[in-house]
Amino acid sequence: MTASTLLLYISLFIGSQVLLGLAFTLFRKLGTAPTAAPVERAPLSQRQSAAWNGLRAFRVARRVYEDAAQTQCSFYLEPVDGLALPDYKPGQFLTFSLLLPAAPGAEAHTVTRCYSLSDSYAPNHYRVTIKRVVAPAECAGVPNGASSNFFHDHVHAGSTLQVRPPAGHFHLDVHDLTPVVLIAGGIGITPMMSMLRWCAQHQPQRTVHLYYGVRNSAEHAYKEVLEDMAAELPQLRLHVVYSRPSPEDREGADYQHQGRVDSDLLKQTLPHGAHQFYICGPTAMMESLVPGLSAWGVASTDIHFESFGPATVRPPKGGTEVRGAGETKTVSVHFKRSGRTLTWNGKEGNLLDFAEAHGIQVESGCRSGSCGSCVTTLASGAVDYDSPPDYDLAPGQCLLCVGKPRAPLELDA
Ligand SMILES: Cc1cc2nc3c(=O)[nH]c(=O)nc-3n(C[C@H](O)[C@H](O)[C@H](O)COP(=O)(O)OP(=O)(O)OC[C@H]3O[C@@H](n4cnc5c(N)ncnc54)[C@H](O)[C@@H]3O)c2cc1C
Repeated sequence: MTASTLLLYISLFIGSQVLLGLAFTLFRKLGTAPTAAPVERAPLSQRQSAAWNGLRAFRVARRVYEDAAQTQCSFYLEPVDGLALPDYKPGQFLTFSLLLPAAPGAEAHTVTRCYSLSDSYAPNHYRVTIKRVVAPAECAGVPNGASSNFFHDHVHAGSTLQVRPPAGHFHLDVHDLTPVVLIAGGIGITPMMSMLRWCAQHQPQRTVHLYYGVRNSAEHAYKEVLEDMAAELPQLRLHVVYSRPSPEDREGADYQHQGRVDSDLLKQTLPHGAHQFYICGPTAMMESLVPGLSAWGVASTDIHFESFGPATVRPPKGGTEVRGAGETKTVSVHFKRSGRTLTWNGKEGNLLDFAEAHGIQVESGCRSGSCGSCVTTLASGAVDYDSPPDYDLAPGQCLLCVGKPRAPLELDA
């Protein structure tokens, strides 16, 4: 080898080392150096995603009847995208947009309904429990409940449903340790199951009194689950109340009290001291219990309640008029898109019924201020609500289904 060849080899070697060094620096800068540690993803059980906007597709993983009469069915829902689900506050609900199949003489149409989450949080599924609603026996020709019967008859494992994220203001105060009194009538047990499970998991020292009113053992949902929880959890005081026990129902075993859940029962069975009350049940139960608790001296800030209806049910015709200072209050309501100006005198109870009674087509869903289907832009005027609606309104919007005009209104409807 000549001296010049040796020099050539040495310079080639040095050049390749410089190039390698440059390449390594470049890779490090780009973050692709081969020494970079692999990215590890937390297991699904430890992940939570933020709430989504609008509708998200869920697949029904399974369905389970919760009562002997098979009128209350749980649906376990898994997100089709497979991503972790956001947590929710115990007591909140999901909103479903359901495309109902065409019935004889009617076209397929979409309805919107809310259903409470009825379990503790899991990152891979949600659970709702739905009671089949049938037409009242005395109402000939009235159809059965549209959504609940659709769920019971047409929604099976593998069905896909469109769902809005958990929402609602009726939820447990998770920062409080005051003993809690959960009062459920019928299917009003669903948000209480979520609250009860949350307390059992996260606040095992918090006393929970559960009062659950049903007719008899046929309609007694989650019977075994509740009995097992009461046997395992010393802090749970279970009071099941049957209004019409069947001959085979055993007091002290199937149920603890006969009659109704009312303020007398609470006075007889609750220990002295402060409590937080959460109530969900039929209108008659709420109308007696909420004032009953106030009359007993419970502060209104300690009484939380939610009503599940009405959806399709209309208020009786010819309701009471809204009166102010001893005279009938009439207000002008202008529906901009329909080009109609009408006079409100309170007979219809809320703006949705008022619009429908006058043939003005507006979207509607739960008819109880929860789902937001009837949200309408308020061009001018102001709307009153008997109690703050569950649905979070943006400025300049109003909810027709629970709203009443305070002053002359101009609505974008
Ligand atoms: C926040 C919230 C949470 C809820 N959580 C739950 C829950 O966890 N589980 C649950 O089961 N439900 C729950 N509900 C109630 C649920 O949303 C529905 O209202 C319920 O399932 C009835 O809906 P539907 O479509 O089956 O009945 P709808 O079709 O709305 O009918 C309701 C009633 O009206 C009658 N009806 C139908 N058409 C007419 C007519 N033209 N004239 C007169 N009457 C008529 C029906 O026969 C029925 O009795 C909740 C509601 C809210 C607001």
